[in-house]
Amino acid sequence: MTTIASRLQAVRGRIADAARRHGRNPEDISLLAVSKTWPAAAVRAAAAAGQRSFGENYVQEAVAKIAALADAGLDWHFIGPLQSNKSGEVAMAFQWLHSLDRAKLAQRLSRQRPATLPALNLCIQVNVSGEASKSGIDPPALDALADQVAGLPGLRLRGLMCVPEPSDDAVLLRSRFARLRELRDGLNGRGFALDTLSMGMSHDLEAAIAEGATIVRVGTAIFGERVYPRP
Ligand SMILES: *Cc1c(COP(=O)(O)O)cnc(C)c1O
Repeated sequence: MTTIASRLQAVRGRIADAARRHGRNPEDISLLAVSKTWPAAAVRAAAAAGQRSFGENYVQEAVAKIAALADAGLDWHFIGPLQSNKSGEVAMAFQWLHSLDRAKLAQRLSRQRPATLPALNLCIQVNVSGEASKSGIDPPALDALADQVAGLPGLRLRGLMCVPEPSDDAVLLRSRFARLRELRDGLNGRGFALDTLSMGMSHDLEAAIAEGATIVRVGTAIFGERVYPRP
């Protein structure tokens, strides 16, 4: 077995263990393999081991990889901050965007999503860490943004995403993830039907699964330490 295949198996084992520990069905949690900075060959190795969904943060790098792997039948999720002038490439090449944080971006994506493709799946990224983080919208702005996204053609709002501040404190992390779940439940109470909580990474996926994660985004534990910093 390749290193990537055995690491993938270990991550799947962690997901299954955490799910069982918290009375959840492991099949309700999908694994997004975060392949940013890794070459197409690493993605192929993961795909050969059964992995279908991959996450990317940098538009140019991702678009080249998606083209190189067009024969492989993979799902691509954009998970990093997205500049408006790059939205067209995401609208054309990806199945999901996890980092929606403004209405203007949703309006652009809606106009740019080709009518020949299924709707682009969206998660709104929420800042659940207060001043300890800058990414995502603040919780009080969530209802208004969700209302603005709902009904835009070519888009389908699926749920919420968060990246809590790095911490070894499992209690703190669980409180952040619980907050995202409560915000999702609040929107569903207002008539949305959101089925996705994108939360949990290599070091905190257990805490996220304990609080209801349906997608965990895992890079390092599958591909190894990222070896070079990105601009
Ligand atoms: C890089 C990244 C991940 C993966 O992080 P690891 O710690 O390598 O598992 C997950 N989510 C987002 C938004 C990322 O940018």
